[in-house]
Amino acid sequence: MRRLNDIEARTNGETTVTRTAALDDAIQTDLRRLVERHPSMAGLVSLYQDIAALQTRAADAMPAARAQPPQWDAGAPRLRFDDLGLTPELLAPWVREGRTLLTAAGVGSAGEDPWGDASAAEWLDLARAGFEARAGPTAPPFAGGPSSLAVGQALVGALAGSAPALRAEIDAGQWYRGYCPVCGGWPDLSLIAPDTEARTLVCGRCDAVWPFRRVGCAFCGQDDRMQRSSSPDQRFSVAWCGHCRAYLKQARWPAQDLPVTRLGLRLLMVGLDLEAQAQGLASQPEQESA
Ligand SMILES: [Zn+2]
Ligand SMILES: [Zn+2]
Repeated sequence: MRRLNDIEARTNGETTVTRTAALDDAIQTDLRRLVERHPSMAGLVSLYQDIAALQTRAADAMPAARAQPPQWDAGAPRLRFDDLGLTPELLAPWVREGRTLLTAAGVGSAGEDPWGDASAAEWLDLARAGFEARAGPTAPPFAGGPSSLAVGQALVGALAGSAPALRAEIDAGQWYRGYCPVCGGWPDLSLIAPDTEARTLVCGRCDAVWPFRRVGCAFCGQDDRMQRSSSPDQRFSVAWCGHCRAYLKQARWPAQDLPVTRLGLRLLMVGLDLEAQAQGLASQPEQESA
């Protein structure tokens, strides 16, 4: 299914980083266009190509996950952490490679890396804690240094091995929760269909998509309209909840002037995270209540 043509290998300090052309054609096209239109994004795009290639290799190396039978009414996601089959031995090399990439790109500081000296078993415990907290790869407990961020990104790779098959089984009529029906993660994107105005949410870690009501908060479940601040060009907005102060990045999508893949869209919207967080908003609620 995936093409893993090694196109570049380099030694970078502690570990060998192998760059692969593992991304599909639509993503490659999106990334190339992003850099053409926004040359200042070249560094970010390059980092995400490396991270995505690492995640693809992680996905390929994972054992087949044991998914739970659907229990939509109970609000149970299909995957529990133990279903993934992630082990310290699988996780550790991905974390070491990921933090090398992140540190080389200036993300986090090696001097401030509280998880840098942790054991592989402790990294696995961190992955479990983040999974169970519904955390996206850059949210607490993964925020805070290159090693914990690398654990978050490795978890995304581990999920990518089993999520696509399960995504296909989402029964749109039976899932109305704010968190992901596949892995239980919080959404990071809210997409409004231009033709029907229907809203879908996208999981911030396994990329599953599910329908959600147009009004109300995915995180705390309250029914008031989300507040919104739009980007100057009106293509995106930050939609946030006045109760729990968690936010989603929102776009009318697909749209002619926007990337065609969700990865491209996410990269183009990275600036919204900085703006939202500067306003004191958080990408997920401090305490789960949905
Ligand atoms: Zn998910
Ligand atoms: Zn809320």
